[in-house]
Amino acid sequence: MFPSVLPTYNRAPLEFERGEGTWLTATDGRCFLDFGAGIGVNALGHAHPALVEALTAQAGRVWHLSNLYRIPEQQALADALVERTFADTAFFTNSGTESCELAVKMARKYWYDKGQPERVNIVTFAGAFHGRSSAAIAAAGSEKMTKGFGPLLPGFVHLPFPAHGAELEAAIDGKVAAIMVEPVQGEGGIRPLPEPCLKGLRDLCDRTGALLILDEVQCGMGRTGRLFAHEWAGIAPDIMMIAKGIGGGFPLGAVLATAEAASGMTVGTHGSTYGGNPLACAVGKAVLEIVGEPAFLDEVNRKAGLMRQKLEGLVASHPDIFELVRGTGLMLGLKCRVPNGDLVQAGYDQGLLTVGAADNVVRLLPPLNVTEDEIAEAVARLDAAAGTLAGRGAGA
Ligand SMILES: *Cc1c(COP(=O)(O)O)cnc(C)c1O
Repeated sequence: MFPSVLPTYNRAPLEFERGEGTWLTATDGRCFLDFGAGIGVNALGHAHPALVEALTAQAGRVWHLSNLYRIPEQQALADALVERTFADTAFFTNSGTESCELAVKMARKYWYDKGQPERVNIVTFAGAFHGRSSAAIAAAGSEKMTKGFGPLLPGFVHLPFPAHGAELEAAIDGKVAAIMVEPVQGEGGIRPLPEPCLKGLRDLCDRTGALLILDEVQCGMGRTGRLFAHEWAGIAPDIMMIAKGIGGGFPLGAVLATAEAASGMTVGTHGSTYGGNPLACAVGKAVLEIVGEPAFLDEVNRKAGLMRQKLEGLVASHPDIFELVRGTGLMLGLKCRVPNGDLVQAGYDQGLLTVGAADNVVRLLPPLNVTEDEIAEAVARLDAAAGTLAGRGAGA
């Protein structure tokens, strides 16, 4: 019989019924340290009291309102995001994929309205992940995501990651509308774009007029220790896609943009039934109020330094299992010498949740309010997991 849930996921046989902070309890009673956080979604862990309060208080008032009307919670979240970022304006979506769709539309409409309708191409990079819609898979361009789903949406130019100067310069011709890039690739294997490259992209965009679209769906909302990852490089995008952490587990995404980049998006050009609904925006505002605090981000950086140090030690003591640690903030990856899936599985057996990524990497994306003790415990569990795999590594 065909599965009643479309079988597109390779699911682990784990079933959870409760969560609190960094911990999840399975239906069979086992407790797990959650260092996947729903793939970087549960930014404040499970059942954070402030988020539960924001959600339930809003649920008692009104759940859904059409964008035919003003939505005060949406306005408040937009104002808060505009106040704390480069952006002049925000459009709310329900996912990263939808944010990608709008980013592409916005960039193309910008040039159309400027009288250069030929500028439609979006430059993207190998290993990128921007979502699963037709535009998003065409943006990523990999065979793994696109095979069998043609004809693909045209207008994407794919470069290596990170691309080198000359190659990039040559790619930005009169048909390019925008460059789209993740400051830190997530699905691609926790690969940070070196700071000079991000600055170089900004400079190239300034010289050619191309819009810079940053996909901060995974690396944004405090994950790297700044509210948004690009802040480390001291640059700003023209358009930014966010989702995942902003809702803390409630479906919410957004496209943030400068007034100039957004100038083509006039009344009637875009919309969403659920986008910016009161429940999502009430939760998003509560997340932002906590994660946006400088003292909270200082703590993220402090704990990130601690975790990185412990992971370096782990790699040093299991050179047959691990090759290196990479990433930034609380977005860290262990490049493995054994198949990464084996380590994820061995972690499950030790009561630790991690997430695989491309390039044989295991991702560690704990809640941003993870404690020092939880970090120490997670690394101890990784150590035990690696111990059970000893002898299987390439170096053994
Ligand atoms: C997860 C992700 C997306 C897609 O987000 P969905 O909410 O799954 O649609 C897009 N870009 C990046 C960088 C992501 O990590």
